[in-house]
Amino acid sequence: MKRIFIFDLDDTLYDERTYVTSGFRAVAAWLARRYSVGSGEILRQMEAHLDQFGRGAVFDAVLRSHGIYSRRLVAQCVGVYRSHLPKLTLYPDAVACLARLRGQPVYIVTDGNKHVQQRKLEALGLHAGYGIRKCYITRRYGIRNEKPSPYCFLQICRKEHAQPHQAVYIGDNPRKDFVGIKPLGFRTVRVRRGAYKGEQPAPGYDADWTIDTLDQLNERLIADIFASS
Ligand SMILES: [Mg+2]
Repeated sequence: MKRIFIFDLDDTLYDERTYVTSGFRAVAAWLARRYSVGSGEILRQMEAHLDQFGRGAVFDAVLRSHGIYSRRLVAQCVGVYRSHLPKLTLYPDAVACLARLRGQPVYIVTDGNKHVQQRKLEALGLHAGYGIRKCYITRRYGIRNEKPSPYCFLQICRKEHAQPHQAVYIGDNPRKDFVGIKPLGFRTVRVRRGAYKGEQPAPGYDADWTIDTLDQLNERLIADIFASS
């Protein structure tokens, strides 16, 4: 029986925080060239704000603290952040896992800004490597087809002439990665890492299996996942 492996991107195959830091660094350097502020100091402030308050208003806060806030400058910072060319590396267990799955149908389904996600895929070498058949950036198909919509997952099934129970999705976010596809029969695996590592999923939102690293996605677990197919 055919088995299809679909991976989430952020915090499943690489550490998303490294993308954020890479973006902050680009913005800090850009600001330092225009204003008399040190890029190292700005970078530290951004990281500290993120750690304390989360995303949403990092640039606003840092610009305000330097007395250079304007909505236009915030928008420019967002532009620099989103358009920067990130330097990213896959988790070592992701590299090993994709190597083990070579020759099998492997896909990526990821939400997010389509240009940003495309640059991440390119920076990681996933757009044309590791034997991945296709990377679906859900927003290319419309906001309504982002997760938890099963739209891209069903596209993969159609492409592979397979049924949902022949496919497994491996993701980290129990708020949206599994709830939309589980009822259709897709198998689901949660990798416990990233921002949702400690999250207790609401009923119906959890994956069928939970692992701590992709090293645990071995032949035995794979056999188990597809046993009842
Ligand atoms: Mg994710």
